[in-house]
Amino acid sequence: MTERLYLKDCYLKEFIAKIIDLTSNGVILDQTSFYPLSGGQLGDNGILKTATNSYEVLNTIQKQGNIIHELNSLEKLEIGQSIQGKLDWKQRYGQMRVHTAQHIISRYFQLNHNAETVSTHLKNTESRVDLHPIGKLSPENLSTISDEINEIFGRKMHVIISFLPREEAIEFLKEKEYQTKYLDMVPSSVKEFRIVSINDYDWAACAGTHVKNTAEIGKVSLNKTKNKGKLRERITYSLIP
Ligand SMILES: [Zn+2]
Repeated sequence: MTERLYLKDCYLKEFIAKIIDLTSNGVILDQTSFYPLSGGQLGDNGILKTATNSYEVLNTIQKQGNIIHELNSLEKLEIGQSIQGKLDWKQRYGQMRVHTAQHIISRYFQLNHNAETVSTHLKNTESRVDLHPIGKLSPENLSTISDEINEIFGRKMHVIISFLPREEAIEFLKEKEYQTKYLDMVPSSVKEFRIVSINDYDWAACAGTHVKNTAEIGKVSLNKTKNKGKLRERITYSLIP
C-alpha cells in the first residue's frame, strides 16, 4: 500500500519513492504526495523522474487502496526502481484553495440557511457545491453571500489537520454539528479519521489537501445557481484572480 504523504503535509511538492508495481498505464509507488481523484477533488498532475528519464503524470487515481500515477509512457520503468516525484504545484495549490473555500462555503450555508452540502466538484476555474434543502438565490443574494464568505476568509483562520480514533472522531464531529451522513460513508475498515479544523468555524472529516490559513484562499465570487431538483440548488464559485 502506498503511504499518502499529502495527508500530513499538503505542501510537500517533491519526494523520492520506489516503484512497487506497474499497471497497464501507470505506476504504484511506496509513497507519494500526489493526491488521487476523490471526494470532489481532482487527481494531481506533475512529473516522475528516474536517473535517465522523465515521465508526465497525466492523472492520479485510486483503485482498491492503491494510488495509480497514470503516465504518458512506461518505457524503461521497472519494479524496485527509485523515482523522484514533482507535483504540478500551480494546479495543486489551486485545488487546496478551492477545497478550503468549499469547507467554509458549506459551513456558511449550514449555519445561515440550514442547508446541507450533498455534493461538490472542485475545479480551479469554477467549482460547484450542491445544497439541499434551499430555495432559489437571486444574483443580489449571491453577491451579499460572496461578501460575507470573503469576510470569513479574511479572518485569517488557521487550518489544522489532526488524526483521531474513529469513535472519538465521530463523537467530536457530531458535537460540532458536522453532517453525520458523511461519517456513515467512511468504510468500517477505517480506524482513524483525519479531521480538518478551521479555527472555531468548521470541522470536517476529510482526506483532501488544504491551505494552512484561510487568508491564502484570497477571495471568491459565487457566480450562479442552477436548480437540480426539489429544493436542491447548485452554486458555482470561482477564485478572484
Ligand atoms: Zn474536504
